[in-house]
Amino acid sequence: MTIDTLGVIGAGTMGNGIAQTAAVSGFKVILIDVTDAALAKGMAALGSSLERLVAKGKLDAAARDAALARIETSTDYQRLAQADLVVEAATENLELKTRILKQIETIVPTSTLIASNTSSISITALAASLKAPSRFIGMHFFNPVPLLQLVEIIRGLQTSDATAASVSEVVARLDKSPIGVRNSPGFVVNRILVPMINEAFFVLAEGVAKAEEIDEGMRLGANHPIGPLALADLVGLDVCLSVMEVFVKDLGDPKYRPCLLLRELVAAGRLGRKTGRGVYEYA
Ligand code: NAD
Repeated sequence: MTIDTLGVIGAGTMGNGIAQTAAVSGFKVILIDVTDAALAKGMAALGSSLERLVAKGKLDAAARDAALARIETSTDYQRLAQADLVVEAATENLELKTRILKQIETIVPTSTLIASNTSSISITALAASLKAPSRFIGMHFFNPVPLLQLVEIIRGLQTSDATAASVSEVVARLDKSPIGVRNSPGFVVNRILVPMINEAFFVLAEGVAKAEEIDEGMRLGANHPIGPLALADLVGLDVCLSVMEVFVKDLGDPKYRPCLLLRELVAAGRLGRKTGRGVYEYA
């Protein structure tokens, strides 16, 4: 099937990034959120992101204007009747996402594919809330969406080959690189990345090295663009902790136990950049 119009649910960090990337790639976009204020905030972020690309010479002004003209915003889910693919990027909450998916299914044609950008909820479990689970798939974008190349394409137990093939084509048209992933907690990247961050907290707690030295070690010795503790501050220590808790619960292996220091910092409200202090302090 031809996919020309993308519905995007949620105009937050990920939703506005997905909408921007799709519009720049020539897709028509219908961006949905619950309030006009959330849509305005999302469009402001999207506009600034496009401006930065223009300032860096990565996009010309005409392409920026054309991209903006391809985006429609609405609080009315009925607008999704036009969409060939709907990507759900609303708040991470199982009940909310289940409700949204059921609502989408009552509006879109049977040919429309439905995807979720969830980071931690089972794609198989989300698919089970639909009457036609074969058209549902995970599309896990990375933050910031306009800059990061990867999309994990996650097949649930019921996802059809045709759905996976069409969504892979869309990812290629977005100028991103897909990897195919079986439904499993954390998929591939977070399954490897977040335990590494957790291990950095153990190394810090055991006094093996200072925070700056741990980060410098991984930057210079492993060629990582940012050290694991600085990355934890960027992602949010609370997010890192909750991912490790999901791994312990869903994979049942004690090797995923969260470091006590990580728990302590979260309990103290030192969540990282967003609270001005995590491992490091921010002005
Ligand atoms: P966010 O809080 O920035 O945005 C969520 C948006 O969803 C908000 O604008 C909110 O108003 C909207 N929303 C809530 N209920 C809605 C509804 N019923 N209908 C339409 N919109 C609704 O969150 P985010 O960081 O953009 O995360 C969105 C999803 O992407 C989550 O599932 C998250 O796990 C996933 N994700 C996040 C990241 C990241 O780094 N932030 C990376 C990959 C995946």
